[in-house]
Amino acid sequence: MTDAPAPRISASPLKLFNSLTRSLEIFEPVHPGEARVYSCGPTVYNYPHIGNMRAYVFADTLGRTLSYKGYKLTHVINITDVGHLTDDADAGEDKLEKAAAERAQSIWDIAKHYTEAYWADVKALNIREPAHWSIATDYVPQMIEFAKAIADKHCYELDGGLYFDTTTVADYGRLARHGSDEGESRIDPVEGKRHPADFAIWRKTPPGETRQMEWDSPWGRGAPGWHLECSVMSEALLGFPFDIHTGGIDHREIHHPNEIAQNQAHSCSDASGARIWMHNNFLVERSGKMSKSSGEFLRVQLLIDKGYHPLAYRLMCLQAHYRSELEFSWEGLGAALTRLKRLVMAVERLKASTGNERTEFEALNDFDKAICDDLNSPKALTFLENVVTGKRYEQQRLQLATAMDAVLGLNLLTLNRADLRVRPKAAKITETEIEATLTRRKEARAAKDFAASDHLRDELIAAGVEVMDGDPLGWDWRLEA
Ligand code: AMP
Ligand code: ZN
Repeated sequence: MTDAPAPRISASPLKLFNSLTRSLEIFEPVHPGEARVYSCGPTVYNYPHIGNMRAYVFADTLGRTLSYKGYKLTHVINITDVGHLTDDADAGEDKLEKAAAERAQSIWDIAKHYTEAYWADVKALNIREPAHWSIATDYVPQMIEFAKAIADKHCYELDGGLYFDTTTVADYGRLARHGSDEGESRIDPVEGKRHPADFAIWRKTPPGETRQMEWDSPWGRGAPGWHLECSVMSEALLGFPFDIHTGGIDHREIHHPNEIAQNQAHSCSDASGARIWMHNNFLVERSGKMSKSSGEFLRVQLLIDKGYHPLAYRLMCLQAHYRSELEFSWEGLGAALTRLKRLVMAVERLKASTGNERTEFEALNDFDKAICDDLNSPKALTFLENVVTGKRYEQQRLQLATAMDAVLGLNLLTLNRADLRVRPKAAKITETEIEATLTRRKEARAAKDFAASDHLRDELIAAGVEVMDGDPLGWDWRLEA
């Protein structure tokens, strides 16, 4: 992973919204000059949907911003291959055990397949590789040690496993602003639990059953709880406390309050574990919450199959502030693709022009102000657009675009028009055939044979090709999905 160059500008302080205090705070690193960030990663029992990927576009934009501000970034994203139950609040079955049983496959194969699918999406969305992908099953001995250290003072044992008593730490749920019945009413009761919000940190395998993934522990054979995993892996790789912990807004309600409770217990203090907790809002569908099981399963691959370049989706995410809900629509994605095309074409023109020798980077000030204002990417995008399409900063535009794109990650310097013309999976005609027909059509028109020209156009339409005469973007044709 290479960090973006830190340009010399009259820099704004980086302000980030801390969910813990519900306020904007100036980023002050725990270790001078460094930024250590942990992002809750996917549970690899199925493909990620594009909503899940919004969480990683956000974490990546944060990481890129920290690099651009000159911090040495250490980013960790975990892979949850054990311990996440079908309900976040500790009810139901382990998601991976369930998927393995349903598909009569080894759990390790399932985890491998979906981890690789997730990594493919990460790459397609130009999300930078973190310093570590921490795999939960690699850390089970450390998880047992962590649980042993807090068991006496903070936990109690039930038939189902070792449970954390949430009243043993100060101010449980302050992140979620629990305290009312609202948060706790969503939590399924487990017989014997002392308080509704108590959660399992170790789940015993029920008598007579065997799990594909299980380990010996002082509380019997079983598997770690999902919340325990993130407490252990973040501390192991980033130290305690570290700088920023990220996740989707759902994690603000259960998963992160539980991590914080464990961290407080383990550190014998009120320290939450991270200085700043940040949460991205959801990508939603008009019909409601995005889901892997109902309706059209919106995956990055589906967007590509329909002819949309995946970076159009990244741009769609950046067009909204990460703390705002974002509604997905195909029209919205189409508009983002058009905007990306315009940006790519403007940068192509800049690359072709001369005179990009030197830059003083003053023009970065507005961009810097926007991105330092809790990652205001919609505004930052507008400044990037102004630079690449406008008339100002004649000599410096390409370098400015390079510096800005290092933060936004749209790959504008290497993408070209041909890359953006993604061929829908359903298309029956090749690009070479389209180009050949269009050449014949041009010849027919030059010879004023309009009947032949119309005929060729109809042929293309029948093959799903929209001919775009006079398109201001200069795109001659488009394949319809
Ligand atoms: P999971 O694999 O379910 O643990 O989710 C991976 C990440 O995606 C977590 O940070 C979730 O909070 C986040 N997430 C889940 N659904 C959405 C959504 N619709 N929009 C944005 N982020 C989401
Ligand atoms: Zn987590």
